[in-house]
Amino acid sequence: MNKEIPELYGSMIFSDKVMRKKLPKDMYKALRKTIENGTHLELDVANSVAVAMKEWAVENGATHYTHWFQPMTGFTAEKHDSFISPSKDGEVIMDFSGKELVKGEPDASSFPSGGLRATFEARGYTAWDPTSPAFIKDQTLYIPTAFCSYSGEALDKKTPLLRSMEALNEEAVKMLKLLGSQNVTRVSTTIGPEQEYFLVDKDLYHKRKDLIFCGRTLFGASAPKGQEMEDHYFGSLKPRVCAYMHDLDIELWKLGIPAKTKHNEVAPAQHELAPVFDTANVAVDHNQLTMEIMKKVAEKHNMVCLLHEKPFEGINGSGKHNNWSLITNEGVNLLNPGRTPAQNIQFLVFLMAVIKAVDDYADLMRISAASAGNDHRLGGNEAPPAIISIFLGDELTAVLDSIENDTYFGKQEKVELDIGAHVLPHFVKDSTDRNRTSPFAFTGNKFEFRMLGSSASVATPNIVLNTAVAEALSQFYQELEGTKPEDMEHAVHELLKRAIKKHKKIIFNGNGYSDEWVKEAQSRGLYNLVSTPDCLPQFIKEKNVKLFTNHHIFTREEIFSRYEILLENYAKTVKIEARTLSEMLTKDFLLALDTYAGQTAKHASFKKAFLPSLPLVSEEALVTKLTNTYTELTEGIAKLMALVEEADQITDMYAMATFCQKNILGQMETLRLLANAAEALIPDELLPYPTYDQLLFSL
Ligand code: ADP
Ligand code: MG
Repeated sequence: MNKEIPELYGSMIFSDKVMRKKLPKDMYKALRKTIENGTHLELDVANSVAVAMKEWAVENGATHYTHWFQPMTGFTAEKHDSFISPSKDGEVIMDFSGKELVKGEPDASSFPSGGLRATFEARGYTAWDPTSPAFIKDQTLYIPTAFCSYSGEALDKKTPLLRSMEALNEEAVKMLKLLGSQNVTRVSTTIGPEQEYFLVDKDLYHKRKDLIFCGRTLFGASAPKGQEMEDHYFGSLKPRVCAYMHDLDIELWKLGIPAKTKHNEVAPAQHELAPVFDTANVAVDHNQLTMEIMKKVAEKHNMVCLLHEKPFEGINGSGKHNNWSLITNEGVNLLNPGRTPAQNIQFLVFLMAVIKAVDDYADLMRISAASAGNDHRLGGNEAPPAIISIFLGDELTAVLDSIENDTYFGKQEKVELDIGAHVLPHFVKDSTDRNRTSPFAFTGNKFEFRMLGSSASVATPNIVLNTAVAEALSQFYQELEGTKPEDMEHAVHELLKRAIKKHKKIIFNGNGYSDEWVKEAQSRGLYNLVSTPDCLPQFIKEKNVKLFTNHHIFTREEIFSRYEILLENYAKTVKIEARTLSEMLTKDFLLALDTYAGQTAKHASFKKAFLPSLPLVSEEALVTKLTNTYTELTEGIAKLMALVEEADQITDMYAMATFCQKNILGQMETLRLLANAAEALIPDELLPYPTYDQLLFSL
C-alpha cells in the first residue's frame, strides 16, 4: 500500500508533470512563466492549456468543470458546466476553450457584496488563477479563480490575497537588492495552517438543532469528565477516528495537499491536522479544500466534523495556527537567522519589519481573526487574549536589547554592535508552555499567528500581514535609500535601533493568559479589542484605509463594503443562534421539564395517598425548582425574542451588531445557565437532546 502513495499523491491535480506531458513545449514554457512571474497569459496559450486540461480531466472521469471561488461567505462557491457540446449529427463532443478556462460569469447578485454591486455593477466574473493547480473532485474539474465585479472590485478573498502577495514581493525584493542580494527576483509568502476540529457521531448530531443550524451547542450540562485529566492530547487514536484520519489523508493526498501531522487535541473528541507549508495562495486554497473534505469524509464514517470555534462550553474550542514566513526564489527563508553576516542583516531587517507591521497594525490583525464564533474562544484561558503581542523568546529579545543599547550580544560592556560580524545563533522553538499563550510567536524560522478561529479562511490574516509587512519594508527602504554600500551596515544598525525603541512595546514574552498582562498591555497603550463589534470599526480608520489603498489591496469602497459584510455576518449569526435556542427550548426542552415536574408530582401524590404521614420535602423542592425554572425559561425566551425583534428594526449595521453583542448574547447566556441547571436534574430518557456525555465520549 505504502508503495502506492507517491503515485497516488497529487494524482487528481493538473500538476507540473501532467502539464509537461500534455502541453507543447513552447506552451508549457509560457504557462510556467505566468505561474512563476505572474505575467499575462496569451489566448493561444490559454487555448492550448484548456485542451490539455480537458483531455486530462476526461481521462480521469470528469464530465464537468467549474470555476471555484471564495466569496465573502467564508465558504467556497462553484457552479458546474458540463464539457458536452452538441455536434451537427445530433451527437456530442467534449469541449473546453481557453476563454472558458480563463473567465467565467457566475450570477453574482446573491453573494454578499456589502452594497458594492448596488453602487457599481450587478455582474461579477471569475478569473483563472494559474498559480494554484486545477484539480478533479466528484467527476468535476475545479479551476481555482478570483472573483471580481466588472468594474474591478474584489468580491472574494483570493483577489486581495494575491494583491497582498504581490505588494510584499515588490517591497521585499527592493529591500533585498538594497541590502546587496542582487540575484533575488521574487519573494513569496509561505503558510502552514494547523487545523483543529471536533468529531461527533452523525446520529447524535442530527438530533441537535443547535449543531445543525449554528455549528455549536447553545446549552448542555457539562459531562462529569471534561479535559481535566489531560489524557486526550496526543492520546492514542480510537479505531473509528484512526480510520477517519487515514481516509482523510488519502483524499487530501490525491489532491496534492501535503497532510503531514495528525493527533488528538486537548479537549475530548478534538483533533488536529497540519500540512507541510506551501506558498500562501496555494496553502489558502488547500485549507479551504481540507475543511470541506474533512466534513465529507466524516459523513462516510457516520460522523460529523465540527469546525466551529466553540462547539462545547467548558472545554477548549478550536483554532487554526497560521505559520507564516518569506521565501526567496533561491529558496532562502528570510526568517531563518543567517549563516553568514550578510544573511544576519537581512534576517534582522525582515524580523524588525514584521515587528513594526504587527505593532502598527495590531488592530487589523485582531480584525482578521474576528468572528461571532471566535469571540467565544479568545481570551478564555485556552486561546490567546484579544490583545495582540509578539513572543520572541529570551534569546532573540536579548539580541534586540543589545542592538538597542549598543552592547554586544552576550557581553556586558557597551560597544557598538557590529551586526554584520556575527553569525546569529539559530533560535530553537521555545517549547515552554508560556509561549503557547502568545497570539503571535516567533518559532525559530517563522511566525505563528494563533488567534485565528478554526472555521476562518486563512486568507484574511495573510492579506493583513503581507500588506503591513510590505508597508514596513517600504518605510525602511525610504530610510536606507541612497546609503553607500560601505555605510549600509551602520545605517541598518541605526534603523534597527530606532525601530526597536519605537515598537518594543508589542513584544511580550510572559504569560498572555494572566490578568496582569491585560493591565500591563493597557499601560503600554496596546489595543484590547475584546469582541468582534469592538474591533471592526478599526477597519475603516483612516490609517488602515491608507494602508490598503496605498498598496492597491482594497479600494476605499471595498473596505467599507467588507466592513458592512462583517458586521452583518456577525449580527445574522447571533440572531440565528437566538432563534435556534428559543425554538429548542420552547418546542422540546420545556416539555421535558414539565413532564418531569408532572411525573415527580404524580409519584409524590401516590406516595402521599399510600403513606399519608410521609414527609415529601425533596419531591416538593424538586417540583418547585422545575416549575420555577419553567417559568423563568418561558419569560426568558419571550425576552430573547423581543430583543431579536428589536434588533431586526435597527438599520445601522454597526448599531445592530453592537446591540446583538450587548443584549442578545447576554440573554442567551442567562437561558443557557437556566437550561443547564435543569438538564442536570432531568433523567436522560426524558431529555430531548443527546447530552455532552454522549456527544463527547461516544466515538
Ligand atoms: P506546532 O503544533 O508545534 O505549532 P506543527 O509542527 O504542528 O507545530 O506545525 C507547524 C506548521 O508550520 C506546519 O504546518 C509546518 O509546515 C509549518 N511551517 C514550517 N516551516 C514553515 C515556513 N517556513 N513557513 C510557513 N510555515 C511553515
Ligand atoms: Mg502551532
